[in-house]
Amino acid sequence: MNPDEFRRAGHAVVDWIADYWATVEQRPVAPSDPPGTVAAALPSTPPTTGGEPVEAVLADLDSIVVPGLTHWQHPGFFGYFPANTSGPSVLGDLVSSGLGVQGMLWATSPACTELETVMMDWLAHLLDLPQRFRSTGSGGGVIQDSASSATLVATLAALHRASGGRWRDTGIDRRYRAYTSTHGHSSIEKAVRIAGLGSDGVRSIEVDPDTQALLPDALRAAIEADLAAGDVPAIVVATIGTTSTTAIDPLPEIGAICAEYGIWLHVDAAYAGSAAVCPELRWSHAGLEYADSYCFDPHKWLLTGFDCDAFWVADRAELIEALTVLPEFLRNAASDSGAVIDYRDWQVPLGRRFRALKLWFVLRWYGAEGLRAHIRSGVALAAQFAERIRADDRFELSAAHPFSLVCFRLRADDDVNAALLARVNGTGRVHLTHTRVAGRYTLRMAIGSPQTTEAHVDEAWTLLANTAKDLLTP
Ligand code: PLP
Repeated sequence: MNPDEFRRAGHAVVDWIADYWATVEQRPVAPSDPPGTVAAALPSTPPTTGGEPVEAVLADLDSIVVPGLTHWQHPGFFGYFPANTSGPSVLGDLVSSGLGVQGMLWATSPACTELETVMMDWLAHLLDLPQRFRSTGSGGGVIQDSASSATLVATLAALHRASGGRWRDTGIDRRYRAYTSTHGHSSIEKAVRIAGLGSDGVRSIEVDPDTQALLPDALRAAIEADLAAGDVPAIVVATIGTTSTTAIDPLPEIGAICAEYGIWLHVDAAYAGSAAVCPELRWSHAGLEYADSYCFDPHKWLLTGFDCDAFWVADRAELIEALTVLPEFLRNAASDSGAVIDYRDWQVPLGRRFRALKLWFVLRWYGAEGLRAHIRSGVALAAQFAERIRADDRFELSAAHPFSLVCFRLRADDDVNAALLARVNGTGRVHLTHTRVAGRYTLRMAIGSPQTTEAHVDEAWTLLANTAKDLLTP
């Protein structure tokens, strides 16, 4: 494809995406075809000769791929957590793809590294993160592919510290322990397993039954018990905005315990971190000054397409010492000078995409006020929806809703609640998911698509209320 062919095909693809966004609301939010439908519609072997026009590929996108999609940008998508994208994010990613730059070292593309450092400092400023995370001090930020990867590298740096620096050479020479609440994300157990601690390396700490937040006394007791058994507490992962209910672990108390025992504190704010762009929601981050590392996903709620996790450490030297490996073929004068950042030492893979571009495009297009408006809209819509639940005796709220997730259930058994979810999702107009809170089946309404308005939330409520009437009528 030469540049002129690319220009023509590229315009057609951009038009296709714009049309998709303009019409996504008319589609069922999630597909209903059985497994294998999309695969069966595709040829079983690749084309022998190339040269197919992009229009033919777009036609197959329309007829084969799109009907098999769950439309995460649909205004009726209320499942899991949002995975926002936006025009500026797509354009920034397009430029990144077009440049095809590989930013493993400062020397392999200085602008790739330097723009990323500045974007991470911009984000730290935007969220008002503690000064210790800024690159101007001993800390700094890096873009990871996901919050899961952020937790993994935090765990590796924590092992480096807990072993007194031996972990690099000796591996797991003692029984190291990680701690998180029973509502901590599954990526924590995965990170701990990858790090070689085994699934039982994670201590699941009890939560307050009312707030679903980690109980600091239970954390202290678990640490004391492990120390008495000769084990080494290495890392505590606290969560701001747990996946099930957006509970907020009490960082001031947890941080003080970590400081007392010299344990690495990683704070996972994968979804709720975006809320801190709004000054009035920053109370949720109280105590963050204790953290050794912190991450959130702009790819969830900050209008930046997947993948983009923002990860900071308070002491970049610890992370780099833990992860650096320097083969001869990567040696270069800039790295040797110590004057540059080589982000390959801050992550698991060597290679890295130019993800800072999409953040740059997003931050310049929306500005702080545009991003705040997006977050505020989700929080306000969630509050309105929660008010509907509160006002209807047939329903109950299952948890507080500090951000834009509302957890609720019908005052009926689990089967009725599961049927309610299946029926409203079956309409194709909305898509909610579920969790369990205190052992009970609970529906989750996560608001966050930039296209979602009051009318869409009202429609979801009407569907839920009418379906509840059908289900509860004998
Ligand atoms: N942590 C929390 C609190 C989450 O809610 C999620 C995903 O929803 C994750 C981690 C994992 O995020 P990622 O897909 O970026 O690894």
